[in-house]
Amino acid sequence: MSAFVTTFAEMAEFEKARARLEARGAALEVVSPEPGFRRVGTAALVTDAEGRAALTPRGAAEVVSAGWVAYRPARIAVPAEEPPDCKEDVFGEARIMVLAPCVADLTKIRLIAHTGGDMAKVFPYLNAEMREASYNAKGPTFTFMDRYRMISMYPRRIAVAKADEIVDGWRTLEMIRCRVNDTWARRAQIEPSDEMREKPPALEIFKRLPKTNCRACGERTCLAFAVRVWMGELPASKCLPVFRGEFGHLKDALMEICMGVGAAT
Ligand code: SF4
Repeated sequence: MSAFVTTFAEMAEFEKARARLEARGAALEVVSPEPGFRRVGTAALVTDAEGRAALTPRGAAEVVSAGWVAYRPARIAVPAEEPPDCKEDVFGEARIMVLAPCVADLTKIRLIAHTGGDMAKVFPYLNAEMREASYNAKGPTFTFMDRYRMISMYPRRIAVAKADEIVDGWRTLEMIRCRVNDTWARRAQIEPSDEMREKPPALEIFKRLPKTNCRACGERTCLAFAVRVWMGELPASKCLPVFRGEFGHLKDALMEICMGVGAAT
């Protein structure tokens, strides 16, 4: 049986979804972020294709979920301890608004979370300490790799690409929450920096292109196009299949990575 997982920005939507699956006697398993990851997500539901169809929106009164991905059991456990409290919480609570397969690696997931706090003022301090990160003060955006996961931070939004599964997504968000709040708490000891040092590689742009080498952008290959976008010579919107055609589902991920490297969209 194929299993799918979804999560929700609002706990009320989770409760509505669970009640609907229970009423139909559909397959149902709950994956909870409690207690360790409770500040960065609401519970997730695992079900089969029939359960998924029962929750697919058909009107204004339907359940609003963040999206669906294939279910994979987590390789890490949710911590049994409460998440640490911070004296000054500039991150706030995170809500996962988008959950989707990662277009850069279909064995992994992509998620977008909105944060209650505005993190922009922390970026120069994070940039001073995270030498491997890329800071674009004009965005502002702050991008870094957590091993193979790519994290793009905006003032009130975080995009995580290539997370293993939902629990790993929560772990990643909790790691960011702690890092943002800890850095802000120590800001008096840190010299803020607007320096832009490293950009994620051009290959990360290439991974988010259709890879059909159709030449509609004027380049011979998608890889050549990715390099020119990365170098700031072409805007990503020249890829018409993504911006106006049948590969529109790649557009958000492509725009995210372009903002992370400071490239034009
Ligand atoms: S238009 Fe897009 S899909 Fe076609 S070659 Fe250029 S980058 Fe690749």
